[in-house]
Amino acid sequence: MAGMEPNDTEADPTVLLEQYLAVSSDECPLCGYNLHRLRGSTCPECGWELELRIAVREPRRAAFYAGLVGLAAGAGFALLLTGFALVVPLIRNDVFGPELWEIGLLCAKGIVLLTLCLLWIRSARWIQRRSTSERWLLAIGAWVLTISAVFIFFLVFE
Ligand SMILES: [Zn+2]
Repeated sequence: MAGMEPNDTEADPTVLLEQYLAVSSDECPLCGYNLHRLRGSTCPECGWELELRIAVREPRRAAFYAGLVGLAAGAGFALLLTGFALVVPLIRNDVFGPELWEIGLLCAKGIVLLTLCLLWIRSARWIQRRSTSERWLLAIGAWVLTISAVFIFFLVFE
């Protein structure tokens, strides 16, 4: 094995992985196969490509997931009720039902929340770099949006 120079910044990732697994016995994150003394960068059991990574000790993901759940719940709620509001009057065959603009408002809210949900996932790293209070403010904002979708529901179905 070639000696690693302290300033060798262009180290081969596969060599680093092999060096690490020569002294550790981590398991494949996908299939649980013990990778001790692995040669190459592919799990011999499941064939998954592996790489050596650095992870932060404290993932700081709670606010991220709290906000994501809020937006996803709001989007699901609004879109489900949009379908409900459109289908129920047809099945019951009566004139009772919310106005079209009210259904449109609910549908628009669902689409906005769904878009925010995707943006939230795409901004995961940006959110993770915010301070703790900023992350929780974002998560609370996501839930406020969702709760406002519920209020629109009560406006529609009053
Ligand atoms: Zn595997």
